Amino acid sequence: MRRLLITLSALFLLAGCASTDETNPLERLIQSSEQSDQAYEIVTSLTTEVGPRIPGSEADKRAVAWAESLFKSLQFDKVYKQPVRVRNWSRGLADARVIAPFPQQLVITALGGSVATQPGGLEASVVMFESLEELQQAKAEQVKDRIVFINKRMQRDRAGRGYGPVVIGRARGAIEAAKLGAHAVLIRSVGTSNSRFAHTGAMRYDDSVERIPAGALSNADADNLERMINDGHDVRLFVDMRAKEHGWQTSYNVIGEITGTEKPDEVVLIGAHLDSWDEGTGALDDGAGVGIVVAAANLLKQTTGAPKRTLRVVLYAAEEIGLVGAREYARANESDLANIVVAAESDFGAGRIYQIDTRFAPDALAEATTLFDALAPLGIVKGNNEASGGPDISMLPAKGVPVVSLRQDGTYYFDYHHTPNDTLDKIDIDAIRQNQTAYAIFSYLMANGDIDPRPAPQLGSAR
Ligand SMILES: [Zn+2]
Repeated sequence: MRRLLITLSALFLLAGCASTDETNPLERLIQSSEQSDQAYEIVTSLTTEVGPRIPGSEADKRAVAWAESLFKSLQFDKVYKQPVRVRNWSRGLADARVIAPFPQQLVITALGGSVATQPGGLEASVVMFESLEELQQAKAEQVKDRIVFINKRMQRDRAGRGYGPVVIGRARGAIEAAKLGAHAVLIRSVGTSNSRFAHTGAMRYDDSVERIPAGALSNADADNLERMINDGHDVRLFVDMRAKEHGWQTSYNVIGEITGTEKPDEVVLIGAHLDSWDEGTGALDDGAGVGIVVAAANLLKQTTGAPKRTLRVVLYAAEEIGLVGAREYARANESDLANIVVAAESDFGAGRIYQIDTRFAPDALAEATTLFDALAPLGIVKGNNEASGGPDISMLPAKGVPVVSLRQDGTYYFDYHHTPNDTLDKIDIDAIRQNQTAYAIFSYLMANGDIDPRPAPQLGSAR
């Protein structure tokens, strides 16, 4: 953090000079953001000095301390933590090999939360399905005592629309395969890369069926296995996985606030998640988001001073294992949620923002023109009024809290997502700066202006 603090204080001096000129405050904020690499410096610090931070781990505890000390060093008015109970899990070894007919090594990784195989591993023949739906329609005699392979490919898409239809197989594959008597499930990685990295991610069990080991094959290895099966071979695999549960731990949502000068009870919330998977260093997912929202709030504070409404930055715990921190935030703050004027979350890497979707009361949309106009020069167009916000704020609109989605270009996000390849070098410094500026503009206009988009319309009436 020392290196980060030196650059941040240099920036503070710069911003201090800028604030003496007479230009309009929003223009000054945009200028100071365009000259600042602060979001990039924050994600650099997090990925270098903490690294991977799986919920409940020792590294997760260091990430919490890092975040708290970052907010304090930036002199946010309030810095506090909210405890969150999480199950800590570790990946351990994950090994898979073709035993017959063409013996060779495969690249796999355990899905998050998977149980281990029996000691010494397991060996069985493989049955392939093109999708979770196809598996659900299978008969027990096709699946019993075998390893299920779900071979659904993810499609590349700027908005990430290829993820939802495939990720359901990652989440529920073990349940559906176990119902039919399978010994294990392997999925084709939920990702768009042709690299030989496997993509991890959360999976679930159902207490009514046996818990079987669940892993992901790299796309290249899934291709190879698919060829063997399509050529009509009975393929036998050996799989050894040594994942472990370590029981309950305490993690924290870490929160920094800049207190509003005129309406301190009205809150503009911007967030990201602090945890990451253990494979890469969690640079794109979601160190970038942490850098973007902390830098945006800090630039605002330094350039234009405290806003009229309170600006709250929430770094959520344990997003990756099921939005655990976000659910706890919504539960613990239930009686105050009506005070949140608007919420946004950055959790889709560091690609440029190209569109703003909202979930605003329809009569506030006209007032929000100032926001849309201010974002337009960054190449951000006005989208629809049916935003659900990022994952950690997705439960808020149902409680009436308006949200926006500042939608990032995710064309390449799923090449790296949840792999050892999610590292700092994948972040484009100009693109993350554009995100920082967009969040600064959004925060400034929502925390200083009169736009009040409450209550969020419920879906179906959100036009
Ligand atoms: Zn994420």
